[in-house]
Formats: sequence, C-alpha cells, structure tokens
Amino acid sequence: MENISAANSRTSSDFIRDIITKDLKTDKWGGRVATRFPPEPNGYLHIGHAKSICLNFGVAAEFNGVCHLRFDDTNPVKEETEYIESIEEDVRWLGFDWGRHLYFASDYFGQMYEWAVQLVKDGKAYVCDLTPDEIREYRGTLTEPGKESPYRNRSIEENLDLFTRMRAGEFPDGSRTLRAKIDMTSPNLNMRDPIMYRILHAAHPHTGDMWCIYPMYDWAHGLEDSIEKITHSICTLEFEDHRPLYDWFLDALGVYHPQQIEFARLNLTYTVMSKRRLLELVREKLVRGWDDPRMPTVSGLRRRGYTPESIRNFCAAIGVAKADSTVDVSMLEHSVREDLNKIARRVMAVLRPIRVVIENYPEDKTEELEAVNNPEDPGAGTRKVPFSKVLYIEQEDFIENPPKDFFRLAPGREVRLRYAYFIKCNDVIKDDNGNVIELRCTYDPETLGGKAPDGRKVKATIHWLSAAHAIEGEVRLYDYLFTKENPDDVVEGGDWKSNLNPGSLEVLSSARLEPSLAGAKPGDRFQFERLGYFCVDKDSSDEKLVFNRTVTLRDTWARIQKAACKK
Ligand code: ATP
Ligand code: MG
Repeated sequence: MENISAANSRTSSDFIRDIITKDLKTDKWGGRVATRFPPEPNGYLHIGHAKSICLNFGVAAEFNGVCHLRFDDTNPVKEETEYIESIEEDVRWLGFDWGRHLYFASDYFGQMYEWAVQLVKDGKAYVCDLTPDEIREYRGTLTEPGKESPYRNRSIEENLDLFTRMRAGEFPDGSRTLRAKIDMTSPNLNMRDPIMYRILHAAHPHTGDMWCIYPMYDWAHGLEDSIEKITHSICTLEFEDHRPLYDWFLDALGVYHPQQIEFARLNLTYTVMSKRRLLELVREKLVRGWDDPRMPTVSGLRRRGYTPESIRNFCAAIGVAKADSTVDVSMLEHSVREDLNKIARRVMAVLRPIRVVIENYPEDKTEELEAVNNPEDPGAGTRKVPFSKVLYIEQEDFIENPPKDFFRLAPGREVRLRYAYFIKCNDVIKDDNGNVIELRCTYDPETLGGKAPDGRKVKATIHWLSAAHAIEGEVRLYDYLFTKENPDDVVEGGDWKSNLNPGSLEVLSSARLEPSLAGAKPGDRFQFERLGYFCVDKDSSDEKLVFNRTVTLRDTWARIQKAACKK
C-alpha cells in the first residue's frame, strides 16, 4: 500500500508534468499542450477514470492547453448512448470542461481506412485468412517466436482487392483480417503482425451500417491522437508494451506523431475497478445499478454524497507514479470528510430510536433551543431545535447493565443532551418479551447550555429529537462492497464475487430526523451529529426523505497518518 505523507497537498509536480515542462522549454510542440480523455463508452466512469480525468484536464489547465473528450467508440457491440451521456455528465460534474473539443473515434473511420489502404500499398499490411484460433496459434508465446502466416506474402494487388471487398461486406464475420506486416519473431508479442481490422457485420450507434470492418484499438488509438494533434497521449501502464506499435503505425504512415506516456492506474482496496466486473455486478443485480452508492463509479460516489472537490483532492493527493499500487480506500474517505466537515450543516437524527419520557417536563410545553449549524463555519449561523416531554435517543446510547467503559445513559446515570439539558434515567419500561421500549427520565432545568450550576459533571453528551416534531425517514448505511481488501484474494474454487459483503447495505426504514430537514432535496449534504455525513438520495421525496450515509465520522486514514508521523 502506498504511504502518502501529504494527503492534503495540492497538485505538485510529477514525471508527466516534468516532461511537459521540458517540452515547453524546448518548444517540441510549438508551445502547445493537448491531452485527451478517451473513454470507451461501454460502461460508467469509475474513480480510476477520475484519476485520469484529473490528470489530463488538470495538466491542460495548468499549462494553458486543451483537453479533448474523445469517445473511443471503435467497438459497436458493447457501446450504448446511455454510457455516452453518463460519461459527459460525470466529467462535467467533476468540474472539467472540454469546450468545443468533443470527438468520436468513429468520425475518423474514413481517414483510418484510407491510411490502412496506404499501408497495404506500401507493403506494410496484408489480408490474412487465418481463423482467430489459428492466428493465436501462429502468434507464439513469450518464450517462442511466432510463425508467419501463409497469407503474409500476398501481392499488393491481391491485398488491395481483398481489403476493398472486406469493406464492401463480401466476407462473413471472422473470415479475414487486415494485419500489419511487422515481425513474427519480435520479443514483443504486440509487434507480431497485429490485427488492424476485423470483419463485424454490426450496426454502430454513430455510423449505422456504413461499416462492416472495425479497427482494433492499437491501430485506431494513435491515429485518433494524430488526427486531433494531441501532444501528450497519457495512458495507463498496461499500454507500455503497446507503445512500440503506437510508434510503428504513426512512423509507417509518416503522420503527426504524439508522445505516449504511461502512468500507474488507480486501484483501491475493498472494491473492483474493471468495467467488465462492474457491469457484471449491475447485470446480475448484485448492486442496485451503476450509481449504487456502494459502487466505485463516479455516479455511485456522487449519489453516496461525495463532492467533486473531494474526488479532485483525492486524485491530487495520490499523485501520478510509474509503479502500480493499491490505495487504501480510507484515504478517499478522509478526503470527503475533510471537505464535508467544512461545508455540511450539522443536524440531529436518530437512526434506531428509543422513547424517552421526561417525567418532570410539562405535558404541553415546547422550547426552541438554539443549535450551531457548523462549528467550522461561523457564517453558517444557528437554528432552533424543538424540545418537549417525549424524546427519541439512539438505542445504543442506553445500556441497562453498562460495562465499565460505557459512559452514556444507564439506570441512575445522568448525561447531557446536546444543546439542551442534563437528563437522568430513573426507570426502564419493557415489553412482554423483556425488550426495553421506553426510558423514564427527569431533566434538570438549571443545566441548559450544558453546565450544572453546582459544577457536577457528566461523562457523555448524546443527541436526541423531540418525538412530536421529528420526521420519519429512511436511512441507508453502507459498508464496503467486498469483505477483502483485495477481492481477488479467494479461497479455492471461489471467484471474486464470493468476496461480496452480504452486509454492505443496511436500510433503516424508521429513522427520525430533525424537523429542519423537511424539504431537503436530493444531493443535499449534512452531518448527522455523532453519526457521520449523509446525503439526500435521489429516491427521496417530500413525503418520504431518504438519506445515504456518505461516510462515518471516524477517520482511520487520519489515524494511519498520525501513527506514521510518530514513527
Ligand atoms: P477496462 O476496465 O475494460 O480495462 P478502461 O477502464 O481502460 O476499461 P477506458 O474507457 O478505455 O476503459 O478508459 C478511459 C481512460 O481511463 C483510459 O485512458 C484509461 O487509461 C483510463 N483509466 C481506466 N481505468 C483507470 C484506472 N484504474 N486508473 C487510472 N486511469 C484509468
Ligand atoms: Mg481501456
């Protein structure tokens, strides 16, 4: 796990920013900086994509450049407009703007085809009739060189004819491919005559039935970068071995040639980050959709209550490196806590209520007590919280036979109610099954403001609500989606899904909420005192408020950092 010492630091330099700084000095790109974020629209964006977005849009902004949003829509089968819309929404929500630079790789299919014809004419590409299985077999392995395809030495005329007919739709799917003629003995498997085009009789969301051959990623990606005059094509480490091919294609064509730079992808503990797996969770209804608040997707984090700022700060804090690593999810949580601590209004809510009757408080009286909206932000002001004879407190703030280290309410024990009075528990009412259903207490009218005139002390302050005034609502509590830091850490025979956490969602359908929460709208964020940060869910309505817990108040990352500093 990475040990990040300055979790709060703003973007500092890194090897990519160093490269760009140097290129600007040497005027390598004529003073331009052009990056791109190139998602394939086959799923929703996740926090790993956010890292790439912050990097690409971030350096463009810092160096006065541009960042393109480019949909790498070269595979018609898995792509959908729903994904395109969600990706645009997520990038915008994260705070970035592509201006007029919105592109679709499919718009370049014509140019790509012409360039492929050029390589065929130059004797650098050929039509191959091997089946997919045969191609795999001929490819060789890391330790064995590949074998040349028997179709490798076709004449240029024959290749041109076959490629034209491939495009015209004369051949069935999988019957032929166009391949680059490079080197079947290269130690780099990517250079062993890679496939440039495959036949696929499938309609494309953007180009319809215009094409029945589709370009492969390695062929297409560099061309897209070249067409858009990208300067720095930033991608994740697994493409390091593809860089020679990226360079080979652009050199063979003799066209504008951006620099590919690889950085380490983000991995997080207790979650999965591959779109294929996230799709599987959605399809198999193991979560409630792409934006399920347990998902590491940008839409899930948004629904959970994360702020764009907290995600940007997190991405700045983890930095950009060249070695793969896994970041502790508590660091992401730390980041949202820091942000919400500054901006979230404090309110009281009781998740698992138990009734408290104040025996010496008048039946029909209500007091409006003053409560602070945000101690971190004096400008946030105060509000009134109603107090009356019957209250709710949290079930877990009372124990009938308390252990030594429990300082909250118990028979004969006095505690402080936040913003209100000291109360003392005198009696415990139980139902026929022996469950505690009500506490009989008395209050001390002299203790308003949290202090007793006689100087006697209480050891705990608890939150509460007036039963008559509280609103009933639903609160959803979340735990990690997986029980293991690394979901791939499986016992024999199990797969990653066997590590799903059955307790990742807990729904409390009759929580009680402070009346000031009436009218709260989806996306509004609050701190429920002592319980954590919460966000109004999109399922919420004026009839029934629904909250998601974004994160608890306990900050394990801050503790890890403190311990690390002491060492
Ligand atoms: P898959 O999960 O199927 O491998 P992908 O996440 O690579 O797909 P793309 O749509 O190709 O999906 O990703 C768009 C961009 O986001 C790419 O430039 C990719 O390098 C970057 N990216 C994807 N995952 C991460 C990650 N975990 N960390 C950092 N960047 C990422
Ligand atoms: Mg990818």
